[in-house]
Amino acid sequence: MKIDLTNSSRYDIWSEIDLNKFRNNIRKMKRLTEGREILLAIKANAYGHGAEVICQEAEREGIRLFGLATTEEGIALRKAGIRSRLVILTPAVFEQIEEIIRFELSPNIIERRYAEIISQEAEKRGKTTICHIEVETGMGRTGIFWEDAVGEIVSIARLPNIKIEGIFTHFPIADSFKKEDIEFTRLQIKRFAFVLKKLDELGIKIPIVHISNTAGFMNYPLMGNCVRPGILAYGLYPSKQVKKKIAVEPILELKTRVVQVQQFPKDWSISYGRTYKTTSPTRVAIIRAGYADGLRRSLSNKGEVLLGGRRCKIIGRICMDTTMVLVPEDMKVNVGDEVVLIGKQGEEEISADDMAALVDTINYEILTGISERVPRVYLGVRNSNG
Ligand SMILES: *Cc1c(COP(=O)(O)O)cnc(C)c1O
Repeated sequence: MKIDLTNSSRYDIWSEIDLNKFRNNIRKMKRLTEGREILLAIKANAYGHGAEVICQEAEREGIRLFGLATTEEGIALRKAGIRSRLVILTPAVFEQIEEIIRFELSPNIIERRYAEIISQEAEKRGKTTICHIEVETGMGRTGIFWEDAVGEIVSIARLPNIKIEGIFTHFPIADSFKKEDIEFTRLQIKRFAFVLKKLDELGIKIPIVHISNTAGFMNYPLMGNCVRPGILAYGLYPSKQVKKKIAVEPILELKTRVVQVQQFPKDWSISYGRTYKTTSPTRVAIIRAGYADGLRRSLSNKGEVLLGGRRCKIIGRICMDTTMVLVPEDMKVNVGDEVVLIGKQGEEEISADDMAALVDTINYEILTGISERVPRVYLGVRNSNG
């Protein structure tokens, strides 16, 4: 979707992203992490906020390391002129190695064999590929198993045309205060520290050490010389169990408009499946948002939206492109009125967390679920020399 920097009023649905709030979140995060380097997760189009603009804004705040999921995300940012380090956190398949080298992306190395192919291909092209290495300490996902890591890294470090710039591990449960979860996270830290110590003894110096996602550096002491947050920069917390050491603000609002106001008679059914029936003459606002925009269908007959500064109920099934909203009897409503799906209107607020709770998921899935067809409008854009 094209980015429109000036005017929201011509859209029927759009997300509004406030870059002033983003900058404030980043500055608070920097103070909290005491000058540590930040590797900012901007995968999945910066959690639905638009990776290109978010990356440029973060660069201006002094961030120079970024975390992506796929090679394609990296190529898109290179084509947009981004020169910072782009680490592909999810292991890329062998077929993508050529592009990783060509676009100077930084892969996550999870085995020696992979490193050898990168080394050979990079050598052929006269390039050096800068890599990060993930150590599996208890995430139960990707990475070199911690007990094998030292040996593997020693042999990877000997390969030509590869530079190991970073080493990291990932926490599955740093967002919990339960005793056994805290013990588990501490065990992971110990395993990782063991790997670092051995490497140090062998004289292998890896300049950037990153361990903590948002939950990690909110709930545990600072570790390594770099942190690896995502969600916090976008103004949300990973879960209710995370200490709110800094007050960040959500930077995204999702808005739409009323496209028709209907006056339905008594006993009239609403939408597919006829799951809602009026019990008296009823005014219904039809809004331009559906599950194809990222408004979860499971919010049917359950969710709310903000209209006229009030919380109004979603009635009937959410359709692909439209949703029906019950209008309170005393409320004035017109075609074109702004409706807030996520964000504030008047005194009311619906957060991504509220929406997530209703459909039994997490705020991350709500944000990344906003569809590409929804245009993004940026507030607080600085001019190029500002
Ligand atoms: C997405 C991701 C992060 C960021 O996590 P948040 O919970 O958003 O702070 C950090 N590390 C890895 C490996 C990730 O995939």
